[in-house]
Amino acid sequence: MSEHNPSRRVFLRTAALGLAAVPLARFATHSSRAQAQDLPKAEDGHALDYVNNAADSEHEKYQSGQKCESCAFWAGEEADGWGKCRHPQFSDVLVNAEGWCNTYAPKG
Ligand code: SF4
Repeated sequence: MSEHNPSRRVFLRTAALGLAAVPLARFATHSSRAQAQDLPKAEDGHALDYVNNAADSEHEKYQSGQKCESCAFWAGEEADGWGKCRHPQFSDVLVNAEGWCNTYAPKG
């Protein structure tokens, strides 16, 4: 005797796909975080007159209060005040939330 219940079959198939997706999602999240943590921390002068402490900048464009954390290029903190910057000049390093470079752009 065979059981033909299409809605039960659809439910089981959907549940199986959902369960299979969970480990993949975890892997993707873990993988991108691991990549960010593998990046070196930018040093003063990395590019665009970058400094790790905005207050140290003597650049003519720098204005008090500006820092990576409030910049439109800031991609969010990864750990301990360090995070990614979306500007291509900083794609291979982490920048400091308190840092600054001459491409600073306030968040809109
Ligand atoms: S563009 Fe410059 S100021 Fe803005 S987050 Fe990147 S390094 Fe910091």
